Amino acid sequence: MTIPTTEIFGVRISRLGMKETVEYIADAIHSGRSLHVITANPIMFMHALEHPEFHQVMREADLNVPDGAGLVWAASYLGEGVAERVAGYDLMHELLKTGQNYGWSVFLLGAAADVVETAADHIARQYPRIRIAGWHHGYFKEEDDERIVKMVQQAAPDLLFVARSLDTQERWIARYRDQLGARLMMGVGGSFDVVSGKLKRAPLFMQRLGLEWLYRLWQEPSRIGRMLALPRFVLRVRQEKKRMQKIH
Ligand code: UDP
Repeated sequence: MTIPTTEIFGVRISRLGMKETVEYIADAIHSGRSLHVITANPIMFMHALEHPEFHQVMREADLNVPDGAGLVWAASYLGEGVAERVAGYDLMHELLKTGQNYGWSVFLLGAAADVVETAADHIARQYPRIRIAGWHHGYFKEEDDERIVKMVQQAAPDLLFVARSLDTQERWIARYRDQLGARLMMGVGGSFDVVSGKLKRAPLFMQRLGLEWLYRLWQEPSRIGRMLALPRFVLRVRQEKKRMQKIH
């Protein structure tokens, strides 16, 4: 199946809704393919525009889904738009839910040691037919990569969720994707903090208003620096539109 996409700054963004995205990933898993899925958001895009090798990682991912209200806006402002927001946190849960029907296994890599352990425990309770293939915290250095890659390889999980900082997790997956032996590989940022109960997700009304970022900022004020990427992203998208209008 070829995925309908729309392009933002040279990166193909999937136009599939949540349900079709899960179906597409499940098909890939069943046919033995491996997939690097990126849940793209404005902060990531600004990082990509400033770091060409990260831009390349995004271009080479098998699927970029539109996480974040800013991206949904940019997709419709610049082109055909996308079906809906596909939030990484929700996609992770939908995959675990679907995986219950097939007895998929999951490996959790990232966050602090106590957080990832609690997250594994909560996932095991919430999704009893998912097999926990292993977990490891995310505070490791490059010299530990080989050991951790081997650990994942031996576990050969259907789902590998990597919860580290935005720039680290995607580069790490892209670098080791052929050695990891996992099917679906996806960076999930701060998701284990939410699954473990350490942090709360924004209430539904705020998610619907596109204000999830504001709730995160309130819980973690130190995020303010990163958040400044949002207005910069809006400016860049407007410039991009002007550039496209000149060409046509
Ligand atoms: N994290 C990690 N290793 C690191 C840095 C961060 O495992 O070296 C985890 C952190 O505990 C949190 C998640 O990655 O669970 C997201 O961290 P943060 O919000 O700082 O990253 P951002 O998403 O803003 O890049």
